[in-house]
Amino acid sequence: MAEQPVGEQPHDQWARAREVFASARRVTALTGAGVSTASGIPDFRGPQGMWTRNPESQRLTDISAYVADPEVRTLAWQRRLTHPAWDAVPGSAHRALADLDHAGRLGALITQNIDELHQQSGVDASRIIELHGTLFATICLDCGATGSMHASLARVRDGEGDPPCRACGGILKSRTVSFGESLDPAVLRAAQRAALNCDVFLAAGTSLTVAPAAGLAELSVRAGARLIICNAEPTPYDALATAVLGGALEDVLPALVAEPFDPADAPLRTYGDPGTWA
Ligand SMILES: [Zn+2]
Repeated sequence: MAEQPVGEQPHDQWARAREVFASARRVTALTGAGVSTASGIPDFRGPQGMWTRNPESQRLTDISAYVADPEVRTLAWQRRLTHPAWDAVPGSAHRALADLDHAGRLGALITQNIDELHQQSGVDASRIIELHGTLFATICLDCGATGSMHASLARVRDGEGDPPCRACGGILKSRTVSFGESLDPAVLRAAQRAALNCDVFLAAGTSLTVAPAAGLAELSVRAGARLIICNAEPTPYDALATAVLGGALEDVLPALVAEPFDPADAPLRTYGDPGTWA
């Protein structure tokens, strides 16, 4: 048990996080770029973020530019070819969440990441809700056919700058949510359900600034869950949190998950499916 705060945590924050987390029987986690930066996948919006340093690369993920401009698509395919996700391996923050899953305490893992590192770390895939999709699959913008990203990347390597859909000739892109696109309503509903049905909502490595992902933390608190935020930078939801832990996630998450489990007596809270609310 970590008696001392990990890193530079204020002592009261660490004590509150320990107490709340140790008694949580069902945790819903929401993860963002911060859990994957240690695995070599850049953050987009942080101080060292790709978009902060190079706003032009944001254009490559804007859906209207992608559809309108073949040059943008060609550039986007070149980016995908060299994406750090292909060689990345899960870090200790990913492994800590996998440990929580294996202990039977992870209700759901909502992620804004598209790198599949949570799946790689051994979290049960049925518990992972990919809010922004996955880089490992393609989708045709015309017929909706999905396929393997690696198969499309092989075509790019063989000389196709902008490989079209094999079924209909339409525009292919990664099965990720681009700027200007909405989240899949069924995926969002699953995330809301997970936010409502937990004892602790653990937001890790996310700036909580992108709607509607950010609103899940508030939804969870309004339903009675405790919110723990682990993020290097302050978030707009810090005031709602029972505890806010800064510092390196690679240290903070393993320490939190290693706390001995001391279940609360209260019954599990269950709010059902927001899609069925009157
Ligand atoms: Zn198609």
